[in-house]
Amino acid sequence: MGKIIAVANQKGGVGKTTTVINLGFALAELGKKVLLVDADPQGNTTSGVKRERNIRPSLYEALIHNVSVNNAIYPLKDGNSYIRDNIDLIPSNLDLAGAEVELVSAFLRELRLKNILEPIANDYDYIFIDCPPSLGLLTINALSASRYVLIPLQCEYYALEGISQLLKTIELIKKGLNPNLEILGVLLTMYNRTVLAQQVLEEARRFFKDKVFNTIIPRNVRLSEAPSFSQSILEYANNSSGAIAYRELAMELVQNE
Ligand code: ATP
Ligand code: MG
Repeated sequence: MGKIIAVANQKGGVGKTTTVINLGFALAELGKKVLLVDADPQGNTTSGVKRERNIRPSLYEALIHNVSVNNAIYPLKDGNSYIRDNIDLIPSNLDLAGAEVELVSAFLRELRLKNILEPIANDYDYIFIDCPPSLGLLTINALSASRYVLIPLQCEYYALEGISQLLKTIELIKKGLNPNLEILGVLLTMYNRTVLAQQVLEEARRFFKDKVFNTIIPRNVRLSEAPSFSQSILEYANNSSGAIAYRELAMELVQNE
């Protein structure tokens, strides 16, 4: 069964979406079958890989209106890049903001996403779920549906602030909804050669020990430019430091399969 990995941190702008897209593409380049699930109403994963806007049915219709998940899966194939042959997307848009509210009174509200993904998990080697920057019902659905959680940490002041709250949430979900959930790893992002970044790295290693990925994602302006062309870094700047780093991370995952 495919590995389902939630990419989560309730802190905004730490590199969740960038990681979902570029790690997903790097694994697809290695021949893995990958599904990206955009569970953020901001829809940044969606716009980062596809030019069309407001694609429907989206994750929202599958979560709330019982639309078959198969109708909400879109191949990214475009004929230009063989990498895209191996990647599918469940897109999102602002409709999903309603789901956070509509789920509150829904039956088995925390397990909706799990029930959607379970029947298709065997079709993929890796499924990445991009979480919104909150610990609300969408993130809880993502953590309940996943075997692993990948936590990006931005190398900046207060990087670890809020982490204890995230870890508490993960523990609660393990005790109740999803006993199998495990931290896959902590990924340092936007790293640069400053004393501060070095300190964040050391602090993360002290706190998370061997759960910190060996691969560190550097700050690379190409990574921030690629989404405006709806391209992964592998398509936009194949030899950039960002592309090299996400390839290295993909290898790290594959070696631990
Ligand atoms: P949100 O919480 O809003 O969903 P996020 O955690 O998904 O944010 P991203 O959108 O991936 O974070 O990244 C935040 C911003 O930083 C984006 O503009 C992105 O392009 C940029 N960015 C991410 N990683 C890097 C990097 N390694 N180097 C330079 N810019 C980066
Ligand atoms: Mg995001």
